[in-house]
Amino acid sequence: MQIRAAVCLISSIALTAEAQRPTLAPATRRYVSVDTTVIAFTNARVIDGTGAPPREGQTVIVTDGRIAAMGNAAEVAVPEAALRIDLTGKSLLPGLVMVHEHLYYPALGAPIYGNYTESFTRLYLAGGVTSMRTGGNMNGYSELNIAKAIEHGDKPGPWIDATAPYLNGPNSFSQMQSLRTPDEARRFVNFWADQGASSFKAYMQIRRDVLGAAIDEAHKRRMKVTGHLCSVTYREAAELGIDNLEHGFLAATDFVADKAPDECPGQGRGQMSVNALDPQGAEFQGLVRELVRRGVAITSTMTVFETFTPGRPEPPGLDVLAPQFRDAYQRLYTAVSKNARSLYSTLLPKGMALELAFVRAGGLLVAGTDPTGGGGVIPGYSNQRAIELLVEAGFTPLEAIRIGTLNGATYLGRADLVGSIAIGKQADLLVVKGNPAAQVSDIRNVEMVFKQGVGYDPARLIGSVKGSVGFW
Ligand SMILES: [Zn+2]
Repeated sequence: MQIRAAVCLISSIALTAEAQRPTLAPATRRYVSVDTTVIAFTNARVIDGTGAPPREGQTVIVTDGRIAAMGNAAEVAVPEAALRIDLTGKSLLPGLVMVHEHLYYPALGAPIYGNYTESFTRLYLAGGVTSMRTGGNMNGYSELNIAKAIEHGDKPGPWIDATAPYLNGPNSFSQMQSLRTPDEARRFVNFWADQGASSFKAYMQIRRDVLGAAIDEAHKRRMKVTGHLCSVTYREAAELGIDNLEHGFLAATDFVADKAPDECPGQGRGQMSVNALDPQGAEFQGLVRELVRRGVAITSTMTVFETFTPGRPEPPGLDVLAPQFRDAYQRLYTAVSKNARSLYSTLLPKGMALELAFVRAGGLLVAGTDPTGGGGVIPGYSNQRAIELLVEAGFTPLEAIRIGTLNGATYLGRADLVGSIAIGKQADLLVVKGNPAAQVSDIRNVEMVFKQGVGYDPARLIGSVKGSVGFW
């Protein structure tokens, strides 16, 4: 085991404007349990997010929202003024950085997605998510506004990379634009970037020329584009310069034999072809090589696929839902359990094996939860579940934690600020009872969530929305 002895106390840290703690409004302060300039975590097991082995008996000093010092107890002096927090029996992890999150949720029985910016942002923070990208926006300005409100300290929640409304071709969603030409796509990207969106997501019916124009325009503004694709294959999107592809390989239509250009053959047909893939076979490995060569990240969203798969445990967090939403999901869960012919019985483990093979071939895997589907993916709770499912896929707990922290920060271009526990980084930290490096389910025991050095109380955040999630 490698022990890092590097210890230094930094007396003055250059704070970038971005990292400076905002003044917290009363609406945010209500959920705060620790807010002081200097904090000393003692007797901590540090799981730093890089994949390095845990370090026991650590002292971590936080000053003005930054990690100022870290090391063995004997090596790090605790400043007189520090608030001491004894972490005996607990682990300190970086805040989660997850990239397929949503601030909307499916309505009961209608093809409409409601706006849950208020309850979801609290649940995400309570579950340990301190940074997130939304993976598609159904409610326009609301998403951009809450990202700003959180940044200014007016509302509690994670830092948000807020996507614009979806980039899609002609489609049947009442909440999506239908982009028909490259010119329209260029205007759309610039309009939403001007409004404050900071990234983009393409969807299932977009044409290659429209997607290419959108990527080109977004890149000019130093923004990234991801996609849940169907009409465009992964290989075509990679050639067009896309940065990220969602849903592991389960949205790939590259392997549909008679795939017509610019047409979605149906997600089901794509998934049947993916279900037949050999993770080590030439067909799949050829695509992986292309994605790795072009630096295209893949987002794992096993949490949503798990809710389509028979024989799986009930997802965590259902008790925060309003009763009619909870009942509706439980009926769906029962129906899924009885579907003995579901493709997902083999597709879920196949999707896991493909993600593992992608990483073993050098690919950047990031994680998200996708709280859509039938309503069983509950923000915060499902982010912890995502880490567990990565371990089920064959990653070690330390690798899974890295995928959910440092990899996300790396993709977002924020790894110098967040994503791991290191001196000089922002103090986005989770206090977790137990040792998730040894027993990954301990990731569910998040006791405190620090964002920019301010400690939030998960119980208070959850309590403020419990029983009413589904309405707002
Ligand atoms: Zn999604």
